[in-house]
Amino acid sequence: MFKASLRSHLTLWFGGLSLLTLLIVGAYVGHIATEQVRQASGNALSDAARSTAALLGLQLRERQQDIHLLSRESHLVRGELDDPDILHSMELRSQARAEYAWMGVVDLDGRVRQAARGLLRNQSVQARPWFQAGLRGPYTADPHEAVLLAKMLPANAGGEPLRFIDFAAPIVDGDGRVIGVLGAHAHWNWVTGIVESAVVRSGSSPDIEVLIVNEDGRILYPERLAGQQQTRLPVHADSRPGWSVDDDYLSSFALVPPPPDTDLSWYIAVRQPLASALQPARVLLYKLLALGALGACLFTAVAYYLARNLSRPIEQLARAAQQVQIHHTGVSFPQHQPVLEIAQLSQSMQTMTDSLLGKERELEDANALLEATVAQRTAALTQANAELLQLATHDALTGVHNRGRLDEKLVECTLLLKRTQQGFALLLIDADHFKSINDTHGHATGDEVLVRLAQLLRRLTRATDFVARYGGEEFAVVVPHSEGEQGPQVLAQKICDGIAATHFDVVGRVTVSIGVALAHASDPDAAALIRRADAQLYLAKQSGRNRVAFAE
Ligand code: GH3
Ligand code: MG
Ligand code: MG
Repeated sequence: MFKASLRSHLTLWFGGLSLLTLLIVGAYVGHIATEQVRQASGNALSDAARSTAALLGLQLRERQQDIHLLSRESHLVRGELDDPDILHSMELRSQARAEYAWMGVVDLDGRVRQAARGLLRNQSVQARPWFQAGLRGPYTADPHEAVLLAKMLPANAGGEPLRFIDFAAPIVDGDGRVIGVLGAHAHWNWVTGIVESAVVRSGSSPDIEVLIVNEDGRILYPERLAGQQQTRLPVHADSRPGWSVDDDYLSSFALVPPPPDTDLSWYIAVRQPLASALQPARVLLYKLLALGALGACLFTAVAYYLARNLSRPIEQLARAAQQVQIHHTGVSFPQHQPVLEIAQLSQSMQTMTDSLLGKERELEDANALLEATVAQRTAALTQANAELLQLATHDALTGVHNRGRLDEKLVECTLLLKRTQQGFALLLIDADHFKSINDTHGHATGDEVLVRLAQLLRRLTRATDFVARYGGEEFAVVVPHSEGEQGPQVLAQKICDGIAATHFDVVGRVTVSIGVALAHASDPDAAALIRRADAQLYLAKQSGRNRVAFAE
């Protein structure tokens, strides 16, 4: 598993957490700011829509009022539709108000009886909707193009068709009968000018768009959108002024108060692209995020600096501990640490290490001592074992094999003979008149003679021969033997002669009698062989001693 240093851990954690915190705070503040900006923009749009609608409503109402008041003029009520005072009043109004493109009096047949500047005089407007509606009551309607009138008026600067909004009111005589219609056409530019000036006056940002929408949801203004359908017309825009977010737009609707007794139903829609409305919040969010990232970098740098300072003593401790681990001598842990716990840890590790190393040294010494003692004891034990073996298998006085070992040897040779046909012979050697040596020279001298006899036996036999003390002043020699040879007999004679020819200190001459017997494969055990050799020894004694008796 990958292991990072404490320094990296601290830096990563601290830096990561600060980045996370700053990003969360930035995002949260950005979110709140966005909401507030959205709210403020929405409210501003709502205010603009309402004030624009109110202003437009007032202007329309005033124009309608103009027409209505003029239709009540006394000459008209008296039925004097051609009276020049009426024309004068209309001329005055047209001059006072530049928005009036046309104003005229129409009789029941739809003929223009008189009009300001004489426009359309005597022409028939019977088919015009405003005339038909004007017979029934006050009338204000959506803008339209007036082809006839347009020819008589100067064209628009931009070249777009001249459009007009119509006002009409019935002329009612004293008996309450409708006798004509007073109509007026106002330039549509006048309406759009009111709307534009209202929005400009409200100090809104340039990308705010103001729309005039009729009751069917058709856009009347601005020109470039004219005729399009505004699908999102609110059901109760008048009763619930407010704003909404649709199709990436923040928009607000307000009902234009209609002139009294007319069916006009217009809405002012003020809208702003959501992206532009929320731009200040987005800028703030970006700034906050950038500031957050910068702060996180700064925090990470500080974290790295702190982590380095904090982890350095721990790294020193770890290094020192590693040195201890690889058995470096004289390791010292840094003692002057600014952090209390690390200083305590360092102190404790130093004490533990000293104690540990001391214990280790003691252990090594004890081990060495133990090993030396074990080696010594092992040597002594080996020695003792060797001595024990010697004692167990050899005769203490003469140093040749003892009787117990002789019995084992005879068993081994007997088994070997049976398995491999390797023959052997047993020589039983008895000192002649030994009792008298003891009697004459003492028991100690007798012992020395026994020792000397054993030496002679070893010297006179081969290494492959086996010499043992059989008991008292009797010895035995086990000799390998092959069929047809006279080896054992010859050896026995050699021994007999050799001893007889040897001068013994104090005692002088000592002789031995020897009984020789060959082992038979048919012997049930070694005792049979011993008995045969013993019988031969007896014979040798009987026949005068200092001689060899041999049995096949
Ligand atoms: P022979 O020629 O018939 O063998 O006569 P001998 O005197 O040797 O035989 P005997 O069996 O009568 O005597 C053996 C003597 O050997 C008796 C005993 O005191 C002596 N003897 C046996 N063992 C030891 C011993 O270890 N040391 C000494 N000094 N004498 C021993
Ligand atoms: Mg004897
Ligand atoms: Mg004897």
